[in-house]
Amino acid sequence: MINCIFCRIASGQAPAAAVLETPGVLAFLDIAPVHYGHTLVIPKEHYPTLLELPDDLWREMGMVSRRVAQALRTTLEAQGFNIGMNNFEAAGQAVPHAHLHVIPRYFQDGLHLFPQKSYRPGNLEKTAARLRQVLTGG
Ligand code: AMP
Ligand code: ZN
Repeated sequence: MINCIFCRIASGQAPAAAVLETPGVLAFLDIAPVHYGHTLVIPKEHYPTLLELPDDLWREMGMVSRRVAQALRTTLEAQGFNIGMNNFEAAGQAVPHAHLHVIPRYFQDGLHLFPQKSYRPGNLEKTAARLRQVLTGG
């Protein structure tokens, strides 16, 4: 995809601070990090979201993310890490080329992830039943 910044990075047409490359996947630093070392893991080929991504590339991205996370712990003394993926604009996806964020975390780093709420009575089971119907047919 000619206009996709991550395709351009994957093909060497745009610069990036690469940290790891495997046959199908590239990992490089996010230019606007949550914390230093915040890394993006992308398939070299263009797939817009997780839903289009072939299973083998999804697996390869998972393996690369784990290696990056381990390196963040040993080099940047990350006390923890988040692995996240925004899919579709409504979820905050700004670059429509599938990618995982590997974000080092520290005690008292002041980050708060998703605010949570409660189910109204009966709605938890109803919601699970709707999902089960689609996922398992039962
Ligand atoms: P998302 O909101 O999940 O689509 O995240 C896109 C991420 O890509 C953001 O965190 C940006 O800071 C990052 N980003 C955008 N352009 C570049 C670039 N040229 N090099 C490195 N990171 C980038
Ligand atoms: Zn792309």
